[in-house]
Amino acid sequence: MPAPRTKLPSFIWLIFLGLFLVTALGLFGGGSGGGVTAIPYSQFQTYLEQGKVKQVTVSGDTIRGTLTEAMSDGHTGFTTVQVPPDLAATLSKYKVEYGAVSTGGPLATLLSWVLPPLLFVGVWMLASRAMTGGGFGGGRGGFAGGLFSIGRSRAKLVTPETEVQVTFEDVAGVDEAKAELHEIVDFLKRPDEFGRLGAHIPRGILLVGPPGTGKTLLARAVAGEAGVPFYSTNGAEFVEMFVGVGAARVRDLFEQARSTAPCIIFIDELDALGRARGVSPVTGQDEKEQTLNQLLAEMDGFDRSVAIVVLAATNRPEILDPALLRAGRFDRQVLVDRPDKKGRVDVLRIHLAKLKLAPDVSLDDIAGLTPGFTGADLANLANEAAVLATRRGAESIAMQDFTGAVERIVAGLEKKSRILIPKERRIVAYHEMGHALVALAIPGTDPIQKVSIIPRGIGALGYTLQRPVDDRFLMGRQELEDKMAVLLGGRAAEMLLGDDVSTGAADDLAKATDIARGMVLRFGMDAKLGPVAWDTEPGHFLEQQQGAYWRPRRFSDETAHEIDRAVRARLEGALDRAVGILRANRDALDAGAGALLARETLSAEDLPAVRGEEGRTVSPESA
Ligand code: ADP
Ligand code: MG
Ligand code: ZN
Repeated sequence: MPAPRTKLPSFIWLIFLGLFLVTALGLFGGGSGGGVTAIPYSQFQTYLEQGKVKQVTVSGDTIRGTLTEAMSDGHTGFTTVQVPPDLAATLSKYKVEYGAVSTGGPLATLLSWVLPPLLFVGVWMLASRAMTGGGFGGGRGGFAGGLFSIGRSRAKLVTPETEVQVTFEDVAGVDEAKAELHEIVDFLKRPDEFGRLGAHIPRGILLVGPPGTGKTLLARAVAGEAGVPFYSTNGAEFVEMFVGVGAARVRDLFEQARSTAPCIIFIDELDALGRARGVSPVTGQDEKEQTLNQLLAEMDGFDRSVAIVVLAATNRPEILDPALLRAGRFDRQVLVDRPDKKGRVDVLRIHLAKLKLAPDVSLDDIAGLTPGFTGADLANLANEAAVLATRRGAESIAMQDFTGAVERIVAGLEKKSRILIPKERRIVAYHEMGHALVALAIPGTDPIQKVSIIPRGIGALGYTLQRPVDDRFLMGRQELEDKMAVLLGGRAAEMLLGDDVSTGAADDLAKATDIARGMVLRFGMDAKLGPVAWDTEPGHFLEQQQGAYWRPRRFSDETAHEIDRAVRARLEGALDRAVGILRANRDALDAGAGALLARETLSAEDLPAVRGEEGRTVSPESA
């Protein structure tokens, strides 16, 4: 609950009241009971000549006074401004009615003093209102609260009444992330049951994935299902110009949360405040850094028995400060990836539920047309198709509308290079299947978990997930050679597919080259170059710190040539080996690539069987 409000507002109102009174006195000061009428100076002279003027006060060029009898409007008081005497004489000779306008009466003087501060206060009010986003009288603190609540957290407390309920049913195609969050919700609903065996709630969960994959949607589903208070906020809300404001907001947010635990705090777009710290050349330690430090401190600060879960989302995990990902903070990371074909069918089912579809619409076919689409892209697709059908004047949305919408959206997405054209997909499918089959054929390599041609992250067009059986500290020569063959399996498959090779193998080549260089230069694994450490590990901690990237070469030019030759020979040998394996398993390669093109992701069980290097048949399970 918000801390008690400051009492300053009434003080401010007092100032306003005072100003108002002073202004009013300035306006009507000197007037007497029967009301005051402003009259021309000539009129005043007439009254004077008629002997009707009872009393006057002169201040500057202004004359105020009262008459002995009321004027036509019933007033006895009057005010007028003096005209220079000789001009007045001339004017009255020709019976002209004349008067003047005061250039600087007490009212003007008063205003010139009062207006600037008034304006200043007004601007200040507007500015602080804009900063805190509150309206007059609305929200926490109201008008004056706007001035004094800059340091308050602006997290929104989401309750079933304030938001449209989102449930896990509304999110599809991201089953692993859903399962993970389900667990958290269960934990919060029945903390005793989980605590029974000493398990404790994870402190921070970070949803990571490309934009539009449903991270924010998942968080809203958690809010809808958890049945505990849910504070929703955005990383950008903590970023302010003024030093200390962001940190104060973080503190306030956690204070509120602590008083309502068990609860969930959700920080969307965490990267806005969680950027890696660095010393800014201008200010040294800047505002953002203070905010981040405060967040780290708060996450460490509450003990494990307080059931607060901090949920955050980002699509740029690589720029986050490493300290955020350390144990006890956001140590659980949940990947929210683009859906595969089956996932897309599920997402489409959700978004097409409310639309009127023609009988020829097939979710399966639409999913087949949309590799690489995110949930948001698919939602957009459903809407575009509806728009096209409406424009056609149709009764219902037909398949042709969907194909038309796909074309439109793909044109936009291709620019962002997230969608592969069919030829590229084929190459990527062979490439990934090449890695997988070489790994399957060589006994003892890490088992294949998953092969996919769904683009992931920047640069990677597909991926083959190999999971090490256990942590390794030592590797034998044979293992390193096997690893190189698997890395070059992608390039080998591309070579078998046609006579062209693609840029897609660049990363594999770099990794394989590192291994080959290590074998030759550091591990003494090359027979010809002998057991010599030609090069050492690049530097100790201090050496790196001092920027010692240049170190004297410890071998002759002649040896340098030999090293280059040896490294190249190792890589060529590994590539030959991979090509040999794939050639012997050409059928499996074609079948696997075909399956990958159709289904986009294959798990270990879906991979075709291959003949091992020694000629025996290996099925994926036994590899
Ligand atoms: P993110 O936060 O990951 O950028 P959002 O959660 O804001 O993505 O998704 C935007 C919209 O796209 C959602 O409101 C929803 O309509 C749709 N959407 C995205 N992902 C999914 C999904 N997995 N299932 C269903 N709808 C989705
Ligand atoms: Mg989002
Ligand atoms: Zn590769």
